[in-house]
Amino acid sequence: MAAARTDNQVTGIGLLGLGIVGSAVARAVIERHRTEDSSASLKVVAAVVRNTSRPRAVDIDSSIVSTDPKSVIANPEVGIVVELMGGEEPAFDYITTALKAGKHVVTANKEVMCKRGSELLATAAENNVKLFYEASVGGGIPIIGPLMNDLTANRIQSVRAIINGTTNFILTKMANEGADFNDVLSEAQELGYAESDPSADVDGYDALYKISVLARLAYHTEVPVDVIYREGIREVHAKDFRYAKELGFTIKLLAVAQASNETGLLARVHPALISFDVPMASVNGVLNAVEVEGDMVGPLWFQGPGAGPEPTASAVMGDVLRIVKGAPSNGSGTATTQPFEIASMSDHFCQYYIRITVSDQAGVLANVARVLGDADISINSVLQKDTDIENGHADLVIMTHPAREANMQKAVSSINELDSVLRLDNLLRVENYAE
Ligand code: NAP
Repeated sequence: MAAARTDNQVTGIGLLGLGIVGSAVARAVIERHRTEDSSASLKVVAAVVRNTSRPRAVDIDSSIVSTDPKSVIANPEVGIVVELMGGEEPAFDYITTALKAGKHVVTANKEVMCKRGSELLATAAENNVKLFYEASVGGGIPIIGPLMNDLTANRIQSVRAIINGTTNFILTKMANEGADFNDVLSEAQELGYAESDPSADVDGYDALYKISVLARLAYHTEVPVDVIYREGIREVHAKDFRYAKELGFTIKLLAVAQASNETGLLARVHPALISFDVPMASVNGVLNAVEVEGDMVGPLWFQGPGAGPEPTASAVMGDVLRIVKGAPSNGSGTATTQPFEIASMSDHFCQYYIRITVSDQAGVLANVARVLGDADISINSVLQKDTDIENGHADLVIMTHPAREANMQKAVSSINELDSVLRLDNLLRVENYAE
C-alpha cells in the first residue's frame, strides 16, 4: 500500500510524541517540506503529546498538536504514523490501531518492539502495510536493516554490542578518571546523559530490550526478556578498573546473543572484562557499537551515535523515506536452518575475574584455590592488592581459566563461607573472543 497523500504529492506524517526525538523528526520533516521539490514531499499533519502547553524544540503549528491519539491514528490525511512516545502501552495499542487502519508505522521504541514486536509485525503483514523500526536499536547506527536485508545469506554466530550510551559514558569515565560509580552517575545526570531514575540504563533493561530485538532478527526465534540473563553496572567499582587494567582489560556493559547447534542460543547482558586488544575496548563515551559475526561475511563492525535527537531522527527519517519511495517490506532476517533452543546462563563458559576481601594471613589463597578446584575451576593468575595493615585486610584478585557458570556460582557460595574471606566483592565475566 502506498503512503497516503494529503494532496497531489505530499505524504501526511502523524507523530505520536513530540519529545526529544519527535521534535527532531518534526524539524527534519518541516525542513524537507520547505526545501525539497514536491515530488516526495512530507508534511506533519498531526502530533499527539501528553501536555500541549509544554514548550517544544520545534516551531510547529500549535493547532495540529493535541492529546487525542485519534487525531493521528484515525486521521485520513496521515499516511505514515511515527511513534516516538516510548513504553509498551499505549504505544502497542496505538500502533496496532494505526496498522489496522492501513497506515504505515515507523517507531524508535525498543520496549514495544522487544515485548510485542512479533504481534505488531504480523499485524502489519496482515494489513499489507509496513512497520519499520531501525531507530529502536543503536540510534543512528543502521543495524536492523543489515540484519533484515543485507545479511540474509549468513548464519549468524554472534551479535555483541555496546548498546547503551549512558552506561558506556559512566564506565568510560570510571576507567579514565578512577572515579566511583555514584559520583559519575550524578555527573551523567547533571549533563543529561542519565535519567533521574537511571534504572532502565544502569540495571541493563534498555540493553536487554535491544539485544532481544537483534537476537530475534539474527536467529529467527523469540528471545523474550525473561530468558535473557541481565546484570547491571552498579557493582562495578573504581578498583575493578585498576585491577582489570593491570591484567590487560577494560570493563564494558555488553549485550550478547550467541548461538551454535551444540550450545543453543544464549542472550546475556552484563558488565564484562574486554581485552584491550579487541576493538570493543575502544568504544568510549556515549558511542554504541555492534559486532555481528556471520558464517559467510565474517566479523562486521557497526559503530556510531546510539542516541541523541539528530542521529535517532536520521534513522527514523530513513525509514519514513523508504516507505515513501515504495521500499518492499522488510526481509525476514538472517539464514537459519531451524530455530535454536534457548540456552541457560548456567552453561555459559568463560574466564572469570573475582575480587575478594580477605584476612591478610597465610593460607588464604590456598583455601580459595581449594574451593575453586573442588568446582573444577583452575586459577590463571592472582594479584594481592591494597593491603590494609591496620585492619589486617587485603584484596585478592583472581583470574580463572575458562569455567562453567554453574560451577562458578557453586564456588562463589563456598568462597563466601570461608573463615578467612570477609566478602566476595565482585565476580565479572571475561568476554571470550577466541571462539
Ligand atoms: P521523550 O523526550 O520523553 O518524548 C516522549 C514524547 O511522547 C513526549 O512528547 C510525550 O508528551 C509523548 N508521550 C508520552 N506518553 C504519551 C502518551 N501516553 N500519550 C501521548 N503522548 C505521550 O522521549 P524520546 O527521548 O524522544 O524517546 C522517544 C522514543 O524514541 C522512545 O521509544 C525511546 O526509547 C526512543 N529513542 C530515543 C532516543 C534518544 O536519544 N532520546 C534514542 C533512540 C531511541 P509530552 O511532551 O507532553 O510529555
